[in-house]
Amino acid sequence: MPVKIENLSYVYMPNTPFQKKALENISINIADGEFIGLIGHTGSGKSTLIQQINGLLKPTEGKVYIDEICLTDKNVELKKIRHKVGIVFQYPEHQLFEETIYKDIAFGPTNLGLNPEQVEDRVKRAMKFVGIDYERYKDKSPFEMSGGQKRRVAIAGVLAMEPRVLILDEPTAGLDPRGRNEILNQIKNMHKEYKMTIIMVSHSMEEVAQLADRLIVLDKGRVVLEGAPREVFSKIDVLEKIGLAAPQVTYLARNLRSKGFDIKEDIMTIEEA
Ligand code: ADP
Repeated sequence: MPVKIENLSYVYMPNTPFQKKALENISINIADGEFIGLIGHTGSGKSTLIQQINGLLKPTEGKVYIDEICLTDKNVELKKIRHKVGIVFQYPEHQLFEETIYKDIAFGPTNLGLNPEQVEDRVKRAMKFVGIDYERYKDKSPFEMSGGQKRRVAIAGVLAMEPRVLILDEPTAGLDPRGRNEILNQIKNMHKEYKMTIIMVSHSMEEVAQLADRLIVLDKGRVVLEGAPREVFSKIDVLEKIGLAAPQVTYLARNLRSKGFDIKEDIMTIEEA
């Protein structure tokens, strides 16, 4: 089990007037190779939760395990955990810093201690999966690229680390519909090829539902729904209550399909349900 979360609660600024409970009693098991969509409105606790998964934040209560290693154990080397769990933060292109695309993507694998040939293989493979031609772009500056391309370079940088668990925080934020579709298709291919566990954070049901095996819906720091997209979409009353209502979702799903997206049949049939 690559990710296991047990009775996790988290409070920001405890024992101060600003105390804020961001997560409450969360228990989640994620299987090897599973694709999880983590959904919820702004403020529902998504960012807080993913930061627990790579040890950036420590639970107030409860436990988080990566590959059976408890992150709060005294002798855990968090550096090793961070090699297992790669996070692509929101707007990852802001973190590009090297003078060439090659160097930027090679930075992580080089730090893993791989030899130059191994690093090159990783860079080539990662660039292929984000759809950026190796020969044409490896020596270009990432800063010459368009917004969507920069983001793909940044994703390739994390991909090249070949993490066991890849967390993508709103990977389509701020992109136009075409850029969004491209990234979503690449994520799908990436998952097929690398077979890692993926947790994709989104505030948009329609987006994650077309990729994820399982959706986890957060509201006010709690898991309110969990299951295959079809099951989650059928709980219309709950979705309405938390403002992630289904009619809008089916409309958008249909809209995406008309643009050539491969929308899982499950989602379309909910309309009839
Ligand atoms: P999401 O990612 O779903 O938008 P967050 O995890 O960012 O949600 O936030 C969950 C709750 O925790 C919100 O009420 C938010 O205001 C609060 N919060 C987030 N970060 C901090 C922080 N650094 N200090 C205090 N409260 C925070």
